[in-house]
Amino acid sequence: MTATTALVAGGVHGGLLYRGRRDASNVAALTFDDAPHPLYEPLLLDLLRRSGMHATFFVIGRNAQAYPYFVRDMVAQGHEVGNHTYHHVRLPPLSPGAARDELQWANTLLSSLTGRPVRYFRPPGATTRPPRWRWRAPWA
Ligand SMILES: [Zn+2]
Repeated sequence: MTATTALVAGGVHGGLLYRGRRDASNVAALTFDDAPHPLYEPLLLDLLRRSGMHATFFVIGRNAQAYPYFVRDMVAQGHEVGNHTYHHVRLPPLSPGAARDELQWANTLLSSLTGRPVRYFRPPGATTRPPRWRWRAPWA
């Protein structure tokens, strides 16, 4: 499980490239990939609850299928749940149909577990733009 700082926004100002919102200070977005993990999830959720912080979890569909109660706990505690494909596969080698299935299977499962639509997607390996085709999220 890895934690990264998500890009909220960005751009160029005064000749400088920046990440995040320029008008905000002391703001960071906590994101965790490859969730839920049976060992780390209870510890992480407890730490976030005790510290009053919220995060976005990029959830692997098959992990959510195995540990649905952690996904429900995430939402109950006010965290965001994002799609990290169903099998945690890198998308570029896949056909467009297989990539769409990976996204849709995870979306369908996560929506059924959380009762709300999935708004964010993070591709495994951070590869978003395959060389042979372009994909568009089925929910976009
Ligand atoms: Zn991952």
